[in-house]
Amino acid sequence: MAFIKDTIEQLKFSSPAQSEFYQAVEDVLESIEPIIEERPKYREQAIIQRLVEPERQIMFRVPWVDDNGQVQVNKGYRVEFNSALGPYKGGLRFHPSVNAGIIKFLGFEQVFKNALTGLPIGGGKGGANFDPKGKSDAEIMRFCQSFMNELYRHIGPTTDVPAGDIGVGGREIGYLFGQYKRLVNRFDGVLTGKSTLWGGSFVRTQATGYGAVYFAQCLLDDNDDNISGKRCLVSGAGNVAIYAIEKLYQLGAKPVTCSDSGGTIYHEQGIDLDLLKQIKEENNGRLYEYLDTHSEAEYTPRDDYPKDGHCVWRYQADLALPCATQNELTEKDAQALLENGCRYIVEGANMPCTQSAVDLFIENNISYGPGKAANAGGVATSQLEMAQNASMQRWTFDEVDTKLQHIMRNIHRDAKRTAEEFNHPSNLVLGANIAGFRKVADAMIQQGVV
Ligand code: GLU
Repeated sequence: MAFIKDTIEQLKFSSPAQSEFYQAVEDVLESIEPIIEERPKYREQAIIQRLVEPERQIMFRVPWVDDNGQVQVNKGYRVEFNSALGPYKGGLRFHPSVNAGIIKFLGFEQVFKNALTGLPIGGGKGGANFDPKGKSDAEIMRFCQSFMNELYRHIGPTTDVPAGDIGVGGREIGYLFGQYKRLVNRFDGVLTGKSTLWGGSFVRTQATGYGAVYFAQCLLDDNDDNISGKRCLVSGAGNVAIYAIEKLYQLGAKPVTCSDSGGTIYHEQGIDLDLLKQIKEENNGRLYEYLDTHSEAEYTPRDDYPKDGHCVWRYQADLALPCATQNELTEKDAQALLENGCRYIVEGANMPCTQSAVDLFIENNISYGPGKAANAGGVATSQLEMAQNASMQRWTFDEVDTKLQHIMRNIHRDAKRTAEEFNHPSNLVLGANIAGFRKVADAMIQQGVV
């Protein structure tokens, strides 16, 4: 339809060289076509043009001194995308690939994801092109402090509440929070993913991975199928992958792969979760170290991957959970999954499947859970952390986990019912996008032209 082409053309001109952002926008616009046709008020109120333009974008210099006394400079970002439903909410990503286009795609996705949770949170995202790999603890701390020296003036517990993403975990949140507190002299609930020692919520660490598996359970239920005994492919070895693997085991499934930027582990017996945690959480190590304990496992270095994709997706399985990063699962990978009989794909990462991979899943009627629905458990639990901070309460692990399970089931139901309403019963991309869009767009209309 013309409005999609026009919007993307305009974005290419006004925000050049942001391919991931155009991809995320196109994905949403294609899904919402039917509702745009149905309700003229969205056009009259220029909802699309307003939605694709962040309310505010902050870019800043992050200077810091490394352990050799050299001055380093990185680029910091916070994109405050949309506050129609609540304060801006979304993580910070520290990774060398970070640029304005990546942060904008993540922020845009976050708006709809957060809306889908049904909780009062708007969408934002931030980060820096800082590479935490190989940095000392002291360097990480100095970087986080410098980053916060600028960020603190833009955030607040009812304004904008950042959290973690790739490269930002409990340690970084601690350093960021410490510096924020020092600058403003207040113990605010201004970041989520905090340590449970000082204001963090139980289950936040596990929430994205657990939530993705709860979402997978909903897909299986829909097919009168059961997760127990299923062979699963998981990519990634960070927070999302580790806790997806943990939950898969708890439910009787068998995860056989994981990966990091260096390569992939395939372990026929099932991934040794304790070892994975030890390598990644305790030692900040590399995945090839897995072979020191399990020489029978298979390790494929990145250089040996098929040239058109990722080797994780070339193994046989029932369920695939991409939990690493954007565009990690290509059309060729999707073809391999289909040929190998994989029937369920659930995105733990943000936009891990390329557009043509998604098209293939939809064409073949595969049960596919898009990230903005399936990985919303992380941010949903962040909102539960905000609620606990604001009311000065502390809920138990089980209380939070039960709430998370409800939220994931509701997200699935909302996406499914919306897909049915628009006559594409098994297309959860369409269902999730329309369900999220409708909430944000209607809130924007009610709040006037702002
Ligand atoms: N970075 C996570 C996401 O992509 C979590 C954000 C948050 O907890 O605010 O949703």
